[in-house]
Amino acid sequence: MTIDSCWLVRVKMFVKSRLLSKVCFMQTRGMHLLNQKAYVDGEWVTSASNQNFNVINPANGSVIGTVPNMNVQDAQEAIEAAAKAFETWKFTTAKERAHLLRKWYNLLVENQDSIAKIMTAESGKPLPESAGEVAYGNSFVEWFSEQARNVRGEIVPSPVPSKKIFIDHHPIGVAALITPWNFPHAMITRKASAALAVGCTCVIKPAEDTPFTALALMKLAEEAGFPKGVLNLVTSDRNNAPAIGALFCESPLVAGISFTGSTQVGKILYKQCSSGIKRLGLELGGNAPFIVYNSANIDKAVEGALISKFRNCGQTCVAANRFLIQNEIFDEFVDKLTQRVKQLKLGDGSHPGVNLGPLINDAQFHKVSGMVEDAVSKGAKVLAGGKPASQLGSLFYEPTIISGVQSNMQVYNEEVFGPVISLIRFKTEEESLQIANATERGLAGYFFSEDVTQIFRVSSHLEVGMVGVNEGLISTAEAPFGGIKESGLGREGSHHGIEDYTYIKYTCIGNLK
Ligand code: NAP
Repeated sequence: MTIDSCWLVRVKMFVKSRLLSKVCFMQTRGMHLLNQKAYVDGEWVTSASNQNFNVINPANGSVIGTVPNMNVQDAQEAIEAAAKAFETWKFTTAKERAHLLRKWYNLLVENQDSIAKIMTAESGKPLPESAGEVAYGNSFVEWFSEQARNVRGEIVPSPVPSKKIFIDHHPIGVAALITPWNFPHAMITRKASAALAVGCTCVIKPAEDTPFTALALMKLAEEAGFPKGVLNLVTSDRNNAPAIGALFCESPLVAGISFTGSTQVGKILYKQCSSGIKRLGLELGGNAPFIVYNSANIDKAVEGALISKFRNCGQTCVAANRFLIQNEIFDEFVDKLTQRVKQLKLGDGSHPGVNLGPLINDAQFHKVSGMVEDAVSKGAKVLAGGKPASQLGSLFYEPTIISGVQSNMQVYNEEVFGPVISLIRFKTEEESLQIANATERGLAGYFFSEDVTQIFRVSSHLEVGMVGVNEGLISTAEAPFGGIKESGLGREGSHHGIEDYTYIKYTCIGNLK
C-alpha cells in the first residue's frame, strides 16, 4: 500500500467513526436516563469481573451502550444488600411506603417520553407502543401505592370466650424478580411495586436484551428516595443468567422468586426452588385461542385480532396464537382481516407511522420464520406476508396470515411469539372449545360473539386464566393477570398481586378472662 492510499484509508475510517458516533448520539439524544451501570445497595456499580456486554438496537444492529455483565458474586452482594435493607424497610408504615411509591410514579410520569425512547431503542417497539407500555407499567406503581394502605388483617370470632384470633399479613422478605425483554418496564413494576408496597425488598434481573429501560426505572426510584438496598438491579448476559437464577432459588436470604418468561425456564426455577420450599410466582408462556363465532360483529373481531396479535410484533404472552373462525363467517372475516394486515407498516419503531418493529433477536427471528416454513411445507397457504422483510434489516418479518393450519404444524401447537396469524376453520361451538383447550398452556383466550348465552357458556368452558369477550386488549393494573396449567402460578396486578409477597400470620391470644 502506498503512503497516499494508506492516508485515504485512515481518512475514510475517521469519517466513518465520526459518522457512527454522530448516529449513536442522534439515536440517544433525549435519552438522559440512559445509564450504563448496575444498581446495588444504593450505588451505581460495575461488575466484579469488570466485564460488560453490548446492548443492541434490533432495528439496525447498532450498539446503544454497554452494561456490566454481572455474575453470582455480584448477585450475592445485591441479595445481601436487600436482606440488610429488609430489616428496616419491613418496619416502615404503609403510609411511608405508599408515599415513596407515589413519588416514584410521579417521576415515571414526568419522564415517560425518555423512558419510551430508551425502550424503543432496545426493544424495537414502535414509539407509540413504548409510550403505551410506559403508561401501563406506571399504572402498577400508582395502583400499588394505593393498595399499600389497604392490606388489612382480620379478627375472627373465636369458638371459645378465653381466646382471640387475629390474622394479619407480613412481608415475606427479599423478593428476587426475573423479567423478560418483551415488556421491559411493566414486568418490573408489576412485581416490584407490589413487593415494595407490602414491605419486601427486591433484587431484579432484567433480560439481556433490555437492561436500559430497567436501569432508567432504578434511576427514578433512587430520585424518589427509596432507601439504599431496598431496590437492587443486576444486569447480566444470557450466559450468566442461569447461575444467577440458581442463586436466587437456592439462597436462604431470598424468600421468594417472581419470574416472567418462558415455560421452559419457569420449570427450571420451579425445580430449583424446591430445595428451600421457596415462594414462587410464575408468569409463563401462552397459546391463546381467538375464536370468532357466527354471531360475532366481524368488524369488532377484526379490530380485536389486530390489537391482540400485532402488539409488540406478536411478541406478547397474551397474543392470540390460534385463530378459530366459524365456517359461515370465515371468508368475510378473513377478507377484512387480510386487507387490514396488508396496510400495516413495518419499520424502525422510532420512525413515525410504523405499526410493527423488528423481532427482538436472531433466535426469535429464526423461530418465527422456521414455523411459517414448517406450516407451508405441510400445506398451509400464505394469504399475506410469509417472508422476511430483509430490505429493512435482518430482524424484520412481514405481518403474516396463513390458512389451512393443521394439528401437525408447529404454529398449531406452539406459541409463535411473532407477527403470524394462523387460521383454523371450525363448524360447532363444541369443536372450537375442544381445539381451544387442547394445549398445556392456559394464559389468555379471546372470543367474539353477540349471543349472550354463548358468551357465558364459552367463557366458563375456556381453560385459561384470562378471557377477553369481544375485546382484544385485556391487561390493566386493576385486574388479576395470570394463567393456569403450564402458563404459571399466582396472579399479578389487582389486589391479589400482593399475595406472592406476603404470608398470613395467625396470632392466638389465650387465657382471657
Ligand atoms: P426466557 O428465556 O425465559 O427469559 C426470561 C428471563 O429469564 C430473562 O431475564 C432471562 O435472562 C432469564 N433467564 C433465562 N434463563 C434463565 C435461567 N435458567 N434461570 C434464571 N433466569 C433465566 O423468556 P424470553 O424468551 O425472554 O421471553 C419470552 C417468554 O416469556 C414467552 O414464552 C412469553 O410468553 C413469556 N412471557 C410471559 C408473560 C406473562 O405474564 N405470562 C409476560 C411476558 C412474557 P436473559 O435474557 O439474560 O437470558
